[in-house]
Amino acid sequence: MNVYDCHLHSAISFDSSEDMENYIKLSVKNRDRFFITTEHVDLESNLARQKDLIADFEKQKNQLAQLQEKYPEIDLLFGVEIGWREDVHRRGCEIAASQPFDMVILAVHENVKGGDAFSKLKESANVDVAYDAYLKLCYNAVSSFDNFDTFAHVDYMLRYIGHTDLRKHTEMLTKIFNKIIEKNKALEINAKLVPHPDAMDRIDYILQLYTSLGGKKVTIGSDGHNVAYYKNGFRDAMKLMDKYGIKEVCGFKQRKEFYIPISLAGGKFR
Ligand SMILES: [Zn+2]
Ligand SMILES: [Zn+2]
Repeated sequence: MNVYDCHLHSAISFDSSEDMENYIKLSVKNRDRFFITTEHVDLESNLARQKDLIADFEKQKNQLAQLQEKYPEIDLLFGVEIGWREDVHRRGCEIAASQPFDMVILAVHENVKGGDAFSKLKESANVDVAYDAYLKLCYNAVSSFDNFDTFAHVDYMLRYIGHTDLRKHTEMLTKIFNKIIEKNKALEINAKLVPHPDAMDRIDYILQLYTSLGGKKVTIGSDGHNVAYYKNGFRDAMKLMDKYGIKEVCGFKQRKEFYIPISLAGGKFR
């Protein structure tokens, strides 16, 4: 069975214009057994003047049903990426429970209500001060939110504020990873920026630390917003998984995990 992409956005998300079918055509060509999009939910978002950015789930389900009929050879799954913020925690929980999702990704995209996303963090003295504040939010997210399957892009904020050596943040990362392990959730390896050396360096350390703490469950996603990103960086990211003894990745169907052996020979990766 081929490893499939567990983090993708289609035009159902506010920030993508990609037709879901384009991804599916590629997946079918690649003989993938599963396909999922994980569409955005960011409540009272700072990107939208505190309006909700919520995927149209009815539209998503209808598209999936129609495409499933057209492509019976692949199993189409229903996913979501919920952006956590403390002030919208309760509503985030309600949304996670409101739909028959196959997989729920938990993510931190914003700090506090008001202003631009991360404006206050970006203004702080340096990358490490800002990233430490981001990691505290990640810890609060994985501690307080229970109804999720995998935690996305723990290095997300560094996409926007610049690179740092994650070894300087071992203490907070350890707390986050221990909480994920304790709750029996998965950690996402986000390959969006692979093969950039900074991204590779971060994934290497994330895997080193997570596995040293006993973490075994990982999901892999490109976080693609268009079809050109489908399975971006998978080959390099999976080589790093192999380096740390991870031989399989998690997928989720009806919120139940299953495992796919990593085989660099099987399927087409970029
Ligand atoms: Zn995200
Ligand atoms: Zn995403």
